[in-house]
Amino acid sequence: MADCIFCKIIRGELPCSKVYEDDKVVAFLDIHPVRDGHTLVVPKIHCDNLLDCDPEVLANMIRATQKVARAVVSATGASGFNLGVNSGRAAGQVIFHLHLHIIPRMEGDGLRLWPSREYGSGEMQTLAERIKQRLRSR
Ligand code: AMP
Ligand code: ZN
Repeated sequence: MADCIFCKIIRGELPCSKVYEDDKVVAFLDIHPVRDGHTLVVPKIHCDNLLDCDPEVLANMIRATQKVARAVVSATGASGFNLGVNSGRAAGQVIFHLHLHIIPRMEGDGLRLWPSREYGSGEMQTLAERIKQRLRSR
């Protein structure tokens, strides 16, 4: 992918603050961190998002993420972290090369990521059925 920023980073054509690399995955600091130590875990092979990615690649990413997240939490003195993926423009994806966000969290740091609501009567069951039907037809 000639124009992909993350492919360019992986090829060494753009700089990054790399913290981890193996033969399948790299991890580097996000240049606009939600919190200090915000780290991106990126597969070396280009895929646009989680849905078009080979499950083997996802498995490699998660293995690397566990290692990197341990180090990020320890190095930042965090007491937890959020693991996030923005999949699709509607979800806020800006770079269309799959990546996982590791965001270190401190107790009481005030970051509120998931505002929630209540389901109306029957809505939850209807949606669960619709999703299960899609899964059965695969
Ligand atoms: P998103 O596609 O919304 O999941 O997020 C893309 C993330 O990549 C943003 O948090 C950006 O701050 C980050 N980002 C963009 N360009 C770079 C870069 N050259 N090096 C490190 N992080 C980057
Ligand atoms: Zn790419």
